[in-house]
Amino acid sequence: MNEWLSQRLEKTKEAGLYRKLRTMNTAPRTKVYIDDQKQIVFSSNNYLGLATEQQLVYAAETILHKFGVGSSGSRLTTGNTEWHEKLEERIASFKKTEASLLFSSGYLANMAVLTALPEKGDVLFSDQFNHASLIDGCRLSKADTIVYRHIDMDDLEEKLNATASSQRRFIVTDGVFSMDGTIAPLDKIMELASSYHAYVIVDDAHATGVLGEKGRGTSEYFHVSPDVVIGTLSKAVGTEGGFVSGSRVLIDFLLNHARTFIFQTSIPPSSCAASYVALEIIEQSGAKRQQLLEKVKQIKTNLIEMGYVVKGDLTPIIPVMMGEAETAVLFSSRLQDKGIFAPAIRPPTVPIGESRIRLTVTADHSSEEIAYLLKVFNLIGKELGLIT
Ligand code: PMP
Repeated sequence: MNEWLSQRLEKTKEAGLYRKLRTMNTAPRTKVYIDDQKQIVFSSNNYLGLATEQQLVYAAETILHKFGVGSSGSRLTTGNTEWHEKLEERIASFKKTEASLLFSSGYLANMAVLTALPEKGDVLFSDQFNHASLIDGCRLSKADTIVYRHIDMDDLEEKLNATASSQRRFIVTDGVFSMDGTIAPLDKIMELASSYHAYVIVDDAHATGVLGEKGRGTSEYFHVSPDVVIGTLSKAVGTEGGFVSGSRVLIDFLLNHARTFIFQTSIPPSSCAASYVALEIIEQSGAKRQQLLEKVKQIKTNLIEMGYVVKGDLTPIIPVMMGEAETAVLFSSRLQDKGIFAPAIRPPTVPIGESRIRLTVTADHSSEEIAYLLKVFNLIGKELGLIT
């Protein structure tokens, strides 16, 4: 077995796609020690800096002492506490839906929706750049999947038009695309869904806490109400776990039919308490969100002026295009030499020839850290002949 796997790994290395772990030796702030090297991190999903917020730590600690470290069962057996229920009610009120259901991760929430809801004979319309967990969910679903070009509403409409006889249709999209930083045109998607009698499923992992006046995500940003909103607590919320929000019937259905809910141990109550407090903070963080997006604007404008190709809309995800995987890996390692941590994103995560440095900005990045990032991008870009 080892020989066979080593040969396969060798091919991965030859293709420049070999990955290895790095060890973070400090809390996820903007400056950390990675493999004992001091680095400024521009790749964290801790968009509002809540992962180290003391109010969350205190809430988790208090409940940790009361409930212990693990929930020790699935929600439907012995793993349901008042904190799981309180958090679900809080998520529902935050997302302005009737109800919500917690999962151990956003990945499992996506799998839950896509394996439990669509039936044989249904069709899923999935954006080309949807997150891996949506893609895996589509693969495991009993429905057929049709992939439409990234945020291309004409292509989506054409494909909806061509499947008029199908039983039921679902449009499946990220709210903010994790590798591209684009915002799904949810207003137009909702219009198409209404014209073609389709349901809309949105994975709002990267929009939750970031988009909309109160940080409720793409629904708030576009003033729409998709049928199913999925999210994670592991990004702007700063904690862990995933959720699905929607009608009470939807949630009751998932509780009864979603295998990743039924057969998984629930997250610890202490974590629920931290998330509960995070949502309270997020709703009141309008000014912080504004500042965060100002920082994004500043970085993007400067990188474009330097001559970089930068993708995406105004979100904390800034993909700086590098082309070949080797270039992205080399750039990332030069960044690390200069004390900036921003990993290369390569195939299969992104298409061949579209490797990139995926920068993410958080509210905690200081103006000095941003100025240093820009200085280093200018330097390395010139060294490697990517910019003039
Ligand atoms: N959806 C998207 C768009 C994501 O980026 C991620 C995390 N990378 C997930 C879902 C999965 O969320 P979690 O980390 O909570 O499993």
